[in-house]
Amino acid sequence: MPDTPVTVVTGGSRGIGAATVRRLAAAGHDIALCYRDDTAAAETVLADIHTTGRRGIAVRADVTDPDQVTDLFDQTEAKLGTVTGLVNNAGVTSRIGPLVDLTPQDLRHVIDVNLVSAILCAQQAARRMNAGGAIVNVSSAAATLGSPGEYIHYAAAKAGVDALTIGLSKELGPRGIRVNGVAPGTVWTDIHTVSGDPDRPNRIARRAPLGRAGDAPEIAHAIAWLLSPEASYATGTILRVAGGL
Ligand code: NAP
Repeated sequence: MPDTPVTVVTGGSRGIGAATVRRLAAAGHDIALCYRDDTAAAETVLADIHTTGRRGIAVRADVTDPDQVTDLFDQTEAKLGTVTGLVNNAGVTSRIGPLVDLTPQDLRHVIDVNLVSAILCAQQAARRMNAGGAIVNVSSAAATLGSPGEYIHYAAAKAGVDALTIGLSKELGPRGIRVNGVAPGTVWTDIHTVSGDPDRPNRIARRAPLGRAGDAPEIAHAIAWLLSPEASYATGTILRVAGGL
């Protein structure tokens, strides 16, 4: 692999993705972060990359669109060099509620952003990683808990992400590309505002053995470890970082 890792982080403008970008820049990665809408947030994270002395680009791309995903990786290669890492982090929920009330639009959007985009990005990364590499898929504890009464469709999408991790690790292992997952529990980010329950982390924290919700940097450390040479024998694993839930 090249001396300086070049890593694509989807949804790198806010929350867990932004914390991951900052953590990876501190660890010496050059980074392409992508985002969908919030250019100001992306520019702030980009400035933090440059403060560390690393190279970075912020690309506005909807990762559910195959053409925009291709463009994201084209821009990364053109401006930063061969891609060695991918963090499939972009994700959304929809409004909390029972499955019987789920609209087809919310169902398709949640599956598209959490699962289809991860497959599209992994495909581009796998095509372009020519000297080994590492992929980390951000899943959720929801994949095994099922999220009843909240968003079962999101949990199902994340279970699909875990299957992607396992299958792709076996397919790409012989090429020296490791594929792992991180399954966070409830973490303080804006994602809970979209679900209509911004205080959800406090509600869930009461059930967690550690008695609190997580903070984004606590997830970023796990992602960064799985991308690093220190995890050189780890592939096909899904690291749960969920406060005991
Ligand atoms: P967040 O704070 O809401 O941030 C989401 C990020 O994804 C933003 O950068 C957003 O960009 C980007 N994004 C959303 N849709 C996109 C699209 N179609 N194309 C490109 N970028 C898109 O979310 P988060 O809580 O950090 O979640 C990050 C990951 O962790 C997700 O996969 C989520 O499912 C997972 N996770 C979160 C929790 C939690 O409690 N927070 C728990 C378990 C798992 P814009 O700002 O431009 O929209």
